[in-house]
Amino acid sequence: MSRYAIYDPLTAATTPAGHDQAVASYWRAHPRAHAPVIDALAILPSRVQTLIIGAGYTGLNAAIELATQGVGDILVIDAGDIGAGCSSRNAGFVLPSSGRLSLADYSKRFGEEVAAGVLHEFNCGVTHLEDLVKRYAIDCDYAPANYLRIAHNANEAAKLRQLAAADSPWPRTFIKAAELQHRLPGVRHGFAALQQQPAARVHPLALVQGYAKVAKRMGVAFKTHCPVLNIQPGAQSVHVETAQGAVSAQQVLLCTNAYATRTLLPDVTSHQLPVLSNVAVTAPLSQWQIQQIGLGINDLVMDTRRLKYYYRLLDDNRLLFGGRGAVSGQNARHPRYAKQLHRAMCDTMPVLNDTQFAYQWSGWVSVPLDAFPRVYRHSPRVLASLGYCGAGISFASLAGKRLAELAQGQSLADLPFYRSAPPSFPFASMRRTGQRLYYQYAKLSDRLG
Ligand SMILES: Cc1cc2nc3c(=O)[nH]c(=O)nc-3n(C[C@H](O)[C@H](O)[C@H](O)COP(=O)(O)OP(=O)(O)OC[C@H]3O[C@@H](n4cnc5c(N)ncnc54)[C@H](O)[C@@H]3O)c2cc1C
Repeated sequence: MSRYAIYDPLTAATTPAGHDQAVASYWRAHPRAHAPVIDALAILPSRVQTLIIGAGYTGLNAAIELATQGVGDILVIDAGDIGAGCSSRNAGFVLPSSGRLSLADYSKRFGEEVAAGVLHEFNCGVTHLEDLVKRYAIDCDYAPANYLRIAHNANEAAKLRQLAAADSPWPRTFIKAAELQHRLPGVRHGFAALQQQPAARVHPLALVQGYAKVAKRMGVAFKTHCPVLNIQPGAQSVHVETAQGAVSAQQVLLCTNAYATRTLLPDVTSHQLPVLSNVAVTAPLSQWQIQQIGLGINDLVMDTRRLKYYYRLLDDNRLLFGGRGAVSGQNARHPRYAKQLHRAMCDTMPVLNDTQFAYQWSGWVSVPLDAFPRVYRHSPRVLASLGYCGAGISFASLAGKRLAELAQGQSLADLPFYRSAPPSFPFASMRRTGQRLYYQYAKLSDRLG
């Protein structure tokens, strides 16, 4: 195994215990002052009512909703710590979206009424998260922000102008090139921008730890560093083998998103492609550099490339910059990927040419074949949620709640997310080859505009 390798859910036999320990994220190095300590069980119980696998936003929101509805005897289990997956290591952009389809795509594929329902559900994601943060006073730097989509060429600028002119449920402002240049003088390749709300920024690790603290207070039990190896749904219960023994549950909620191996419950976990996303955080910038760039603490920026870059200024004057990562885990930590990201950052903001990355890490996001998320019942006693395609802070939080509602026999809105399992990939073994080809095509298309 290469010294640059990381855990790869597509090829590994099991999710390793403590797979998150090698992740040196900025968020772990800068926790909130009052980050809670969640006492986990020392010994795995032999039976529970509800077993939730995955202690990220989805699993913890499912636990909170079940506990709120009066369900007891809930165990949340994770191969790593609380938030071992994406939930502790994302960029902290809270947006009303998920998956890769736009509202226009939903409208074309499913009709206008469904698109309106999707929009409503996306907005519910943000209000749900905001409500929990306020109700339980979760200390996670949650604050309203401006989401800026910056067109990287003239074609995309024209599309943003059209979007701004169309009816929109969200407050939107079109920003012309000259105005954008005035506002963000140090950002290159800005042909225009669309500023949109609602949006918010958050400390992602503090949010997931806050959710865990709420669930713990409601009586939910935790078992961390305990990979699940096998799930066998039965007529009377579900038999679950873990690295620390077996547990039988009346129902299992699978909230492992991109982090489960494809063999865990193959007709769920193999119906997605784990795709690596890279993030870096620079050393603190000087006041001069910040003025040159023009970014404020409330600006969350994403460009319009197929292979997108996104960035935000952090409250200690560092810049967070993210983009795509390696295709497989094999060489994911090779320095060339950090160099690629650094080159992209300097190309976007040349004033950062001499600014080094202080933190660099990556995470697996879950991409289904048809690029939109799913919350569904797999079998009478097993439910699953996955496929947010790298946009899941608000939607994963809501998906956890919806999963719990479904587990309680409540019906969900008639939306594509809730109707079916994700489709399987044809030629599954060729997924990574397909991804490599797509990256080549996207790179060329981004360059040629
Ligand atoms: C670099 C990066 C940047 C991102 N930025 C943003 C952003 O700015 N805005 C946004 O909306 N979204 C963003 N996302 C996506 C967002 O973080 C995710 O959609 C969201 O966190 C998913 O939450 P989850 O609970 O479903 O999954 P996860 O947080 O990934 O949790 C899954 C959990 O399952 C556990 N698990 C897996 N297999 C097993 C097993 N066999 N046994 C036990 N436990 C297991 C894992 O250890 C993990 O803790 C980003 C993602 C990445 C990687």
